Amino acid sequence: MAARKVSASVPPPTRIRTETHLGLVRRARRMNRTLTVAFPEVYCELDFSTPLELSVATILSAQCTDVRVNQVTPALFARYRSALDYAQADRTELEEMIRSTGFYRNKANSIIGLGQALVERFDGEVPGRLADLVTLPGFGRKTANVVLGNAFGVPGITVDTHFGRLVRRWRWTDETDPVKVEHAVGALFERKEWTDLSHRVIFHGRRVCHARKPACGVCILCKDCPSSGTGPMDKLEAAALVKGPETDHLLALAGIGD
Ligand code: SF4
Repeated sequence: MAARKVSASVPPPTRIRTETHLGLVRRARRMNRTLTVAFPEVYCELDFSTPLELSVATILSAQCTDVRVNQVTPALFARYRSALDYAQADRTELEEMIRSTGFYRNKANSIIGLGQALVERFDGEVPGRLADLVTLPGFGRKTANVVLGNAFGVPGITVDTHFGRLVRRWRWTDETDPVKVEHAVGALFERKEWTDLSHRVIFHGRRVCHARKPACGVCILCKDCPSSGTGPMDKLEAAALVKGPETDHLLALAGIGD
C-alpha cells in the first residue's frame, strides 16, 4: 500500500471544526472506550508500595524516564524507609544514589525538604489532600495528582507532556496551561474515570502517538482523531514505530501479525 503524504499540521476535518460541546463529549468518551480496548490494563509505571515511595519516585521522574527511576528506587527505598530518614539524609550519599536520574542536586534538595516538611507538618505521613500536597517541596499539581490518584485512589488528571500534547492533537482542548487543560478535560469525563484516563492517554503517547512521528497507520483512534495523517499511514511503516509491552496486541488490533 502506498504511504499517504505525511504532513506536520493536518487541518482538522469539517466535522471537528464545527463540533458542538456535546459532540466533543461523545467523541472524547468514545476515544476513551477505544483506548480501554488498546490498553485494558493501565497502571502507574513507577514502582512503589507506599505514598512516600511514590512521592519520591515522582520527584525523581522529572526529566527522566520511569524505567530509569525504577532502576534507582529499590536501593533508595531500602536505604530510606521513612520521612525522617529523608529529612536526616546525608546529602552527598543521597545525591550519589539518585545521580543517574539527572538534576540530582535539585532532586536531593526536594527529597530532603519533603522529608523535613512531612515530619514538621504532617507527623511524617504523606497527606491525602491536594491542598496539602501542593505545599510540599518538589510537589507541583502534576505530582500531587499522580500521588492522589495512584496512592490514595482519589481521582485525578495528570497533565504531563504526553497528556497535554495528545489532548491538543485530539482537539479535546486548545489550552496549553496544564491547570486549564486539567479542568477542560476533566469536564468531558466522569470524575471516577480521571486516573485511568490519564494512564491510557499517557500510555498511548508513549507507545503509539509519538511527538515527532506518530504511528497513525496502525492507530486504533484514527477514525476519531482530527490529526490522523500527522504520521505515516502506511501500516508497515507505522507498525515499526509502535513501542512497549503491548506492541503485539496493538498491532493485532490493527490487523497485523497473528
Ligand atoms: S491517529 Fe495519529 S495523531 Fe491521531 S492519535 Fe493516532 S497516532 Fe496520534
